[in-house]
Amino acid sequence: MQKIFVCAFAICVMSAINANAATFSAGVAKVDITNDDAGPANDRMYARALVIQQGDTKAVLIAVDAVAIGEIGYIKHDYLPKVRAALQQDLQIAPEHVLVNASHCHGIVRADSAELTIQAVKQAAENLVPVKIGVGVGKEDRIMENRRIKMKDGKEIDIRRAYSMPPDHEIAAVGPVDTEIGILRLDRMNGQTLAVVYNFACHPIMGVASGGNTADMTGFSSQAIEDALPDGSAALFIQGCAGDINPAKYKDFDNPKNAEALGNLLGLSVLRAMKKIEMQAEGDFKFVQEKIELPRADLAERIASLEGEILQTVRQLKGTNLNLRAFLPLMTKYNVNKDFPSYSAQHYLHEKLVGRKDLEQLDTENRRNLEAYIENVHTMEQLSRMQTNLALLKLHQGQNMAAGKRTVAVELLGLRIGQFVLVTFPGELTVQIGLNIKAASPYPQTFVAGYTNGYIYYAPTEEQLRNVGGAQEDSDCILAPEWHKQFEAAIAELLKKL
Ligand SMILES: [Zn+2]
Repeated sequence: MQKIFVCAFAICVMSAINANAATFSAGVAKVDITNDDAGPANDRMYARALVIQQGDTKAVLIAVDAVAIGEIGYIKHDYLPKVRAALQQDLQIAPEHVLVNASHCHGIVRADSAELTIQAVKQAAENLVPVKIGVGVGKEDRIMENRRIKMKDGKEIDIRRAYSMPPDHEIAAVGPVDTEIGILRLDRMNGQTLAVVYNFACHPIMGVASGGNTADMTGFSSQAIEDALPDGSAALFIQGCAGDINPAKYKDFDNPKNAEALGNLLGLSVLRAMKKIEMQAEGDFKFVQEKIELPRADLAERIASLEGEILQTVRQLKGTNLNLRAFLPLMTKYNVNKDFPSYSAQHYLHEKLVGRKDLEQLDTENRRNLEAYIENVHTMEQLSRMQTNLALLKLHQGQNMAAGKRTVAVELLGLRIGQFVLVTFPGELTVQIGLNIKAASPYPQTFVAGYTNGYIYYAPTEEQLRNVGGAQEDSDCILAPEWHKQFEAAIAELLKKL
């Protein structure tokens, strides 16, 4: 924690003194980290490493098909310190020159993923070749959507498999997406591509039809790119600000889950954009690491008010004459024929002829019961959303109280490889934050990675945090709303040092 600024100033000086030092060498490797004890794998999970060297300075980008680097999932807290210590000792790669990004796929990886990652980096470092580098952007707008829904009552909820979609008539608007793919391409001197690093924002959580262990869409996109490139090349996916970005049609109940189709679209968009990139033999090579403290939230008040809302909502449940078994056939009948639901039109006409209203009366009663039952179902849906979010708030309030301090330390990394500028954060930044950083950056090709070098849950905007308890991102969060301005200010400072 004592290390506040670790600027790679020495690198800049060295680059200026020795013109040759501005050229690059690079090597890649990928190691399978799939946990085959976790059940059948649909496809493989990898740790992919790209070692880049300029002069005496080495750095490594590591892309891991896992949910997070520590805190949640199968990669434990000791992973990053273990990897950094080994790379410093054995390869003289400084800890602040190590970037590990989790794709955030929900696949199950091996317990020894740290050792396997170290192995991948060592393999990559053994095979350094001179390279040219180039930077570009691609576009992809078919595979993702913002998962936050703005409701007409001013609240926001989101699209999760943990709870229901809201009724259509309550939906007012949807949130933004980032269609940009940031691309760093590294070619051997003969023009063959050695590596591509691509940054895009989307939760890779679509799933596969088999239900097997999977690296999900970004595993498929990397594989599709590698299949199209020469043998021995690697495609490293760097997850962006995907906090509120889901795969498109995430809650499709009519088709088998197909992460591969989405991944292939992303992969093709990367390949298409790569073709247009101009390659350069020399360029800048800078890494800046910064550690900052961000304010933790106190959720006590919000928890109490949400508990009150839940109680109020429970009281909205009305008495019902129906149960599910009676409701379903009635619902069908009253939708198949709205005019004559209970019997043939003949008998309705007969009753009219003789001046009776028995069926009409029955229909009125059934319609009333159906409406009341549907209202109860909507109330239940609201309750399941609130309960799920309340559980998240209680979890994080517990963590924040147990932390013993009102702030949380996070590591930010800024790097510049030629024109490729990337800043990182160890959590799930929502997409607007990435868009803000890109718009404010002095560098045209600035990209933003979440899920990097640690994990501190979701990191939504200050505005999104006014909705605490309503959607996952604002509830699955340990940060106080002020974090957002502090973070964007810290990134602006960090960018100046690149
Ligand atoms: Zn997530």
